[in-house]
Amino acid sequence: MNRPTGERTRCRRLRSLLQDRPGFLVFMWRRAERILPRLKRPLDRFGEERVAAWVQPVEEIVKKPLFDCRMCGQCILHFTGMTCPMTCPKQLRNGPCGGVALDGTCEVVREMECVWVKAIERSAATPYAEDMGRLNPPVDWRLNDTAAWVTYVTERDQITTGIGTGPHHVSAVIGP
Ligand code: SF4
Repeated sequence: MNRPTGERTRCRRLRSLLQDRPGFLVFMWRRAERILPRLKRPLDRFGEERVAAWVQPVEEIVKKPLFDCRMCGQCILHFTGMTCPMTCPKQLRNGPCGGVALDGTCEVVREMECVWVKAIERSAATPYAEDMGRLNPPVDWRLNDTAAWVTYVTERDQITTGIGTGPHHVSAVIGP
């Protein structure tokens, strides 16, 4: 169901406000890091599929308005300035393409600010600025539309193409 335009605009404004001053979102993520491991017990008892089916709608309700989450199932928000990389029209997960305009807008959707320009700006206001240099593996599309809160706990989000023994941070490639 499509939301009315006014509601969408309000949602977008609130999202930008929170993401541009990401202290609250960082606080929430730190809480989540402590709480999510509690899923281990239900996961052992009921299995991943059933727990994911319960968790996914809740995750979507929380993360869709806050981050415009696309439910990729392998969340890297805290590495990317609390800015969802899947909202980039090219779905890039390792920084901007060469098409960012001088005013910081996207070459695909001209009226949109580049997701990665925003991510880099915002990450400076988080304790995870260093992680902007993390080399994120390509999206594992097998996890698409699954609960990232569950794949985080099971570490299924770590089993993905391209995460082998190669460098995991840009500093290992071009130096600090
Ligand atoms: S789960 Fe994926 S799509 Fe959703 S906010 Fe995290 S990175 Fe973005």
